[in-house]
Amino acid sequence: MIEYKDKEKLEEQKVFIGGEWTASGNGDTYSIINPSTGKPFVECQKCNAEDAKQAIDAAREAFDHGPWPEMSFEDRIKIFYKASDMIDKVSSELGVLDAMSNGVPITTNNATILNMSPNFKYVCKRVKEVMGSKMVAGEYSMGMETEFWREPDGVVAIITPWNVPFWQMALKLPSALIAGNTVVFKPASQTPLSALEVGKIFGEAGLPKGALNVITGPGSVVGAELARSDKVDHISLTGEVATGEETVRNASGSLKKVTLELGGKSPNIIFDDFPIDEAAKMAVLGISLANGEECFAGTRVLVQDTIYEEVAKKTAELYGSSKVGNALLPDTNLGPLVTEEQMKKVLRYIEFGKEEGAKLLCGGERLLDGELKDGFFVAPTVFSEVSNDMKIAQEEIFGPVLSIIPFSTEEEAIEIANDSKFGLGAGIMSMDREKATRVARKLRAGFIFINMWHMVSPDMPYGGYKQSGWGRMAGDEGIKQFTQIKSIYPDWDGATGSLMKTLLLPGG
Ligand code: NAD
Repeated sequence: MIEYKDKEKLEEQKVFIGGEWTASGNGDTYSIINPSTGKPFVECQKCNAEDAKQAIDAAREAFDHGPWPEMSFEDRIKIFYKASDMIDKVSSELGVLDAMSNGVPITTNNATILNMSPNFKYVCKRVKEVMGSKMVAGEYSMGMETEFWREPDGVVAIITPWNVPFWQMALKLPSALIAGNTVVFKPASQTPLSALEVGKIFGEAGLPKGALNVITGPGSVVGAELARSDKVDHISLTGEVATGEETVRNASGSLKKVTLELGGKSPNIIFDDFPIDEAAKMAVLGISLANGEECFAGTRVLVQDTIYEEVAKKTAELYGSSKVGNALLPDTNLGPLVTEEQMKKVLRYIEFGKEEGAKLLCGGERLLDGELKDGFFVAPTVFSEVSNDMKIAQEEIFGPVLSIIPFSTEEEAIEIANDSKFGLGAGIMSMDREKATRVARKLRAGFIFINMWHMVSPDMPYGGYKQSGWGRMAGDEGIKQFTQIKSIYPDWDGATGSLMKTLLLPGG
């Protein structure tokens, strides 16, 4: 077994602009605190709007005059395979950097990093077909050989959150780059280290200068500049709903393309034909990735009333037995929350749950024993007797808190599940295939897990309904997301042009 160790202190990180590693213009830096220990371990550049402008200019130059958008798919793919192999070689090192930054157990961070290469390989395999010209000449084309071309958007700004940094990158970056866009990538301030390494790797793999720029700094400054700039063609953000709303406002001045992956409050519907022990496992599985700080965590567990009490009890027993510890320990199930602020937010929601009359079955507090004392640990928490109008059922908590809600009929389950401003994921636990399929059709969510949770694959589109976002990442849809379409109307034999002249020109 690999032994993962805290890194005492890393050297100060720079940012990657136009193929060069550089400091922020005003020399400002900020510290990243390891949430398992409460200790800072690395300084990063606190870029400002001027730095963001430089990164945008580098990406603009690389798109307008650089070789990347003009390169053949074969040449782009060669660079991608090289980068992908290099990432695989350092994946456990990258896992340590992310786990030390966000407190998510190393096993999860490693799994999401290993997930990067299938994403790379998928886009390499599909890009030619997806981007290829399409002839549409047919009965409506009046004899013209009409076709449309799919072309890159141009300069794409990618902004990601801290919860599963590598996976967030894997959903967007390969599709955006392979399509021929140039990118300014701003990872979350809490978790920029693996993104900076990926910048380094792409540079070494031969990506032309300026095709990928990685900058760090406050979202409200750097991210807002990326959204406002009229030199950016597309901003692709993953984050909270409020950040999505602000990004739309900032982007509206230039009417650039905006794609959003936002929050969730996913229902996990458990019917009484599902075995009770398995039901409790699926309830816990739904929240077990990334300390419950996961956009599609099944945080609202809807259980049929006939098995409600037993499932709630077993769920609390199982979740309550989670091994809580330093994110670098391979047997940790639940690490610390990403920051002290996030921990306080989660604890506030737990208080709301108690005040609103939900029954606390386990957890509900900060953990301070032994080695946990300086970290930001919250005990795995389960509430039963939750009604769907409570704050803990409607708002995204983003921490290890499950709300268990009873229902009696299939119709009621669907109604409760859809009674949310979010529509990211949903789960259905039932052995009745017809019923599960029927319910899946009625749920207003971007993806549905049936008798499982968490498994998403690079060939499937990913995204949400309602306030959970705009657009889809991954799969062919993910590549298309970073392209625009140019329609070509050629009149090689002059016939259609003659008709137009006759119809429209004076004396025609
Ligand atoms: P956040 O909205 O605070 O930050 C996300 C990113 O946006 C960060 O890089 C941040 O620096 C940047 N940002 C902040 N303010 C900005 C602004 N004004 N303009 C532009 N960028 C700005 O979110 P977070 O706390 O990092 O992540 C948690 C949120 O992300 C949760 O709501 C979660 O559901 C959501 N999320 C969604 C998905 C999904 O696929 N739908 C996946 C992961 C996380």
